[in-house]
Amino acid sequence: MFTIDELQAKLAGGATAVSLAEESLAKIESTKNLNAYISVLNERALQKAAESDKRRAEGKTLGALDGIPVAVKDNMCIEGTRTTAASKILENFVAPYTATAIEKLEAAGAIIVGKTNMDEFAMGSSNETSYFGKVVNPLDESRVPGGSSGGSAVAVASGTVACALGSDTGGSIRQPAACTGVVGLKPTYGRVSRYGLLAYASSLDQIGPFGSTVKDTATLLGAICGIDPHDNTTSTRPTEDFTAKLDAGVKGKVIGVPKEYFGEGLDAECKAAIEGMLKKLEAEGATLKEISLPHISYAVSSYYIIATAEASSNLSRYDGVRYGYRSKEARKLFDLYAKSRSEGFGKEVQRRILLGSYVLSAGFYDAYYVQAQKVRRLITDDFNKAFESCDVIASPTMPGLPLKCGMNESDPMAVYLSDIYTVSLNLSGLPGVSVPCGMAGGLPVGLQWIGKPFQEADLLSVAAATEKLAK
Ligand code: GLN
Repeated sequence: MFTIDELQAKLAGGATAVSLAEESLAKIESTKNLNAYISVLNERALQKAAESDKRRAEGKTLGALDGIPVAVKDNMCIEGTRTTAASKILENFVAPYTATAIEKLEAAGAIIVGKTNMDEFAMGSSNETSYFGKVVNPLDESRVPGGSSGGSAVAVASGTVACALGSDTGGSIRQPAACTGVVGLKPTYGRVSRYGLLAYASSLDQIGPFGSTVKDTATLLGAICGIDPHDNTTSTRPTEDFTAKLDAGVKGKVIGVPKEYFGEGLDAECKAAIEGMLKKLEAEGATLKEISLPHISYAVSSYYIIATAEASSNLSRYDGVRYGYRSKEARKLFDLYAKSRSEGFGKEVQRRILLGSYVLSAGFYDAYYVQAQKVRRLITDDFNKAFESCDVIASPTMPGLPLKCGMNESDPMAVYLSDIYTVSLNLSGLPGVSVPCGMAGGLPVGLQWIGKPFQEADLLSVAAATEKLAK
């Protein structure tokens, strides 16, 4: 792995952006076995890199990201390039416009080298549901890299790029970050525009950064956030320098430790790694305070009702008529819908559409969907209350080591349950960052820091302190 600063030092020492892009593309080629990328944008990347070199030669360099290779998850559109969401239904879909987050990255001079592999339509925690095959965890090939942004996490962990973008609906940035030993941040809902992100569950989806360090994650966030007229859910808050407080330390900070998060269900070795880190932070001057999130045990069930309900609506646009895969077998209109969708969507996506249609159907709507929305409110209230007495909340990212390959097929329920620590942040819109804090079973353990809305700078300063102590 390497950092943006290291690449910037190379550029300052005379290397060209074209040479950095070439190195990145060569590394993507030599790590093909990991299956982290769906599309590699060779020509486009080299052309953008040449433009960056021209800027540098003219003394018009744009900032820290100018000339830096970056990978993006393949559910974000780039005009004129294939965007698949790892689904057969969009196998040959070429995007007619560019996602705002990517537009902003490119406006900052970043070079997009490729579109990364993911769970189909971002549905999953294991990266095994991609139509293009699973992503391999470079740290242990018998285990998954986490999902659904596993390709982006592996792209960083395997040294093809310094940083990458993913999307997080219920943990899809934080979980693969934890499974591969990198840093992954889900910003506050509304911090980053979702325009050009293929929707999974719109009230939960958020784009966010991966990096090998907290600093790189902060740099990337600074480049992509901000108001967007194309996405009415974006906040009017001005962009910040999220790297500003990274050296602030934790002295005087009150860390909330939810008692519900450190009981049953958490692997003992992971627990020890996290608690060990909390002790170190205490020694640095932070105060640990036990807190309670009384409704948190309902988070996974309400999440899977709300997420699937929204997905069933969002994915109704893939009908075989307007764009995407169309079945050749269909003779009548209904057949065209049914066959295109049955042949185009994978098993997990179909399971979610069925579940979502069911919880929205007349007769079940009140019992499931409305109830889940009420629980969502209670969970948000739990966090609001907890934040009255602490600055930041500590939590595991995952209940244990990365899952063994094949579980999505053999025990999908167990995979859903592994989202226990991450989905509540999406339900309540809060920011969260997973940062490596130690090892268990020879693999990295992720500590998830949960922050107050729009307090990413504070969140990242605690993450930076963790990173320092983990070294
Ligand atoms: N594992 C969760 C799900 O499958 C979260 C996915 C995500 O964040 N995109 O819905």
